[in-house]
Amino acid sequence: MSMKCTECGTDIPQNAKFCVSCGAPVGGDAPTRQSQPKRQQWLYIVSALVVVAAAIIIYSVSSGPETATDPHAGMNMQGMGGQASGDPSQGAMGGIMRELAALKERVAKDSTDAPAFMRLGDLYFQIGRFEQALGYYSGAARANTASPEAWTQVMHSAFQLGKFQTALDACDQMLGINSDDTEAMYNKGAILASMGNREEARKVWETLVSQYPDDPESQRAAESLKQL
Ligand SMILES: [Zn+2]
Repeated sequence: MSMKCTECGTDIPQNAKFCVSCGAPVGGDAPTRQSQPKRQQWLYIVSALVVVAAAIIIYSVSSGPETATDPHAGMNMQGMGGQASGDPSQGAMGGIMRELAALKERVAKDSTDAPAFMRLGDLYFQIGRFEQALGYYSGAARANTASPEAWTQVMHSAFQLGKFQTALDACDQMLGINSDDTEAMYNKGAILASMGNREEARKVWETLVSQYPDDPESQRAAESLKQL
């Protein structure tokens, strides 16, 4: 199962050593509430409630990418709307459901529709369904192999699922597109460290620090090297 980064609140797998969203080291200790600013605590509580509510809704209308071609998805939504009458957010939920159905129709018709794959990935990522998100982001990356945005999202969702090798491959794809991608370099080190490969992580971060000394990612790398 996953836990939350104590610095930025991103979901991270249990065995991660560094957060790929903010670079914070992930200690063996469970995050303590005292260590978090009050404002962030509230943010976590509110976002957790939103995620749970959205997850329930989307679970009820869809079982994931397998149903991407289901032409009856729209009918299920109408059934849901009837049950949820009186709920003030019903309109917005109906909107999300219609968007999901329309997007799934688009990718079913055209497997090269990268923007539709990306948006589907984003919607599933936002509600914490990283497995589905990874599937759709991978679709976007296949549709447009030169898209660093798609590979970045493949990296983040794979990392959150603890699929470190997939995350690492995505970093290499990003570096293949742009060898000066310092964020991909930082993240490659964080992923290698999480895989237990501290020597390779050290090499990647030391290279980053020596080649791009003024880059903010190098500052993160220098901090992380101390924690390695
Ligand atoms: Zn973080």
